[in-house]
Amino acid sequence: MKYLFGLLLVLCMATSAQARNPLDFSLLKLGNDPAGPTLLVIGGIQGDEPGGFNAAGVLASHYAITKGNVWVVPNLNFPSIINRSRGLHGDMNRKFARLDKADPEYDTVEKIKSIILHPQVDMVLNLHDGSGFYRPKWETSSRNPLRWGQSVIIDQSAITAPRFGNLAEMAERAVDEANNALLRSEDGYRLKNTHTREGDSEMEKTLTYFAITHGKPAFGVEASKDFNTPVRAYYHVRVLESFLRQAGIAFERDFTLSPEGLDAAMRRNLHLAFHNGKVQLDMDDVRSTLRYVPLSRDAGTEFTSSKPLLTMVDEDNGFRVYYGNNRLTRLVPQYFDYDDSLNALRLTVDGEARSTPIGSVVPVRDAFEVAAEEGYRVNVIGFTRQGLENECGVPIRRADIRDAYSVDNAGDVYRVEVYRGNKFSGMVLVRFGGQTPAAVAQHAVAGDEDTLGR
Ligand SMILES: [Zn+2]
Repeated sequence: MKYLFGLLLVLCMATSAQARNPLDFSLLKLGNDPAGPTLLVIGGIQGDEPGGFNAAGVLASHYAITKGNVWVVPNLNFPSIINRSRGLHGDMNRKFARLDKADPEYDTVEKIKSIILHPQVDMVLNLHDGSGFYRPKWETSSRNPLRWGQSVIIDQSAITAPRFGNLAEMAERAVDEANNALLRSEDGYRLKNTHTREGDSEMEKTLTYFAITHGKPAFGVEASKDFNTPVRAYYHVRVLESFLRQAGIAFERDFTLSPEGLDAAMRRNLHLAFHNGKVQLDMDDVRSTLRYVPLSRDAGTEFTSSKPLLTMVDEDNGFRVYYGNNRLTRLVPQYFDYDDSLNALRLTVDGEARSTPIGSVVPVRDAFEVAAEEGYRVNVIGFTRQGLENECGVPIRRADIRDAYSVDNAGDVYRVEVYRGNKFSGMVLVRFGGQTPAAVAQHAVAGDEDTLGR
């Protein structure tokens, strides 16, 4: 299990590494079963629907596919996601019938169309958050036929396709399975058939209609905007897993299927890495601004991120780090050339000597000390001692470092930077608090509710 999830992460990082524009969408391919079915899951076609794109993000990073295949695009309209806009350039989900080549989203729409039409793709889910609750008969102003929340949407009952053409049947079953796991009885899902071909000129322009008119079974899935993000993601995952089972795709997940479990999965394992991991910045509970971050000039295009919804864009003489539609921090860089001659630091942590790879996070209970390396200078950010320029060879406790220089708000994580002449050789993070290495590797954060709703 662990191994598989590790693989997913590598794939994901490779995707981010190749992307020249940090706001290009990612395509993650899970599973290795060429003869098996392939489900394409898309999130974030509209930027203000975090339930859908976070559910797709969790699918990308917290599932192992053991039979069949899943392709995930969790951040289709990434510029709109980070800007919390339905669509910076209009509604992307109305651009699939015809689109002017001058449209700023023309390339994105063409790229996702070609993925939908890829011969390996057997079925498409497009994840949304919709207003209120779709109900076939008028009940109240928020529960009626004009609303979209809590529905599985089809354009027509069936299409001709090698497999999964029985759209209504599959959607009905997904509705039933989601309704077996409701958090409140009134949250129930319904099937919504837009009968697009019979003259719905709006729905004719959508991604799903494009898919079905090209022989690809496709479904829209809506969670209600009445819920917070983890609850929306929970319902999305319920529907999603029903489609996986119906398609014969087998999977394992590394979180508990509940709103709390989704919330924890979304927050887990957020970090950015630079220069082949010589600098790794932990984004857990990160301060709103990190200053004097030693980066190379190409950091804005050469970084890797641990999750596809985590990215970094140029902003205000520095970089702004986003996770989905949340601004996590601002990085104010100090630019350096990198020196690649050092791969590890020798540290003594709580009395025990060890070799520590550059770019890692080291748990410290009480004190650490960096051994001197000929030709290198160590700078522990926030630590100063009179007359000491190279901060190796002295034991350093949390109380010796000024709180304001921590990477995180809690004041547990500090930067140990190494220089050779005027070049930067890499960074290690020390995390005070005596956590075990396993706990640090996972570092799920409890608490602060609004990372995902801000
Ligand atoms: Zn939508």
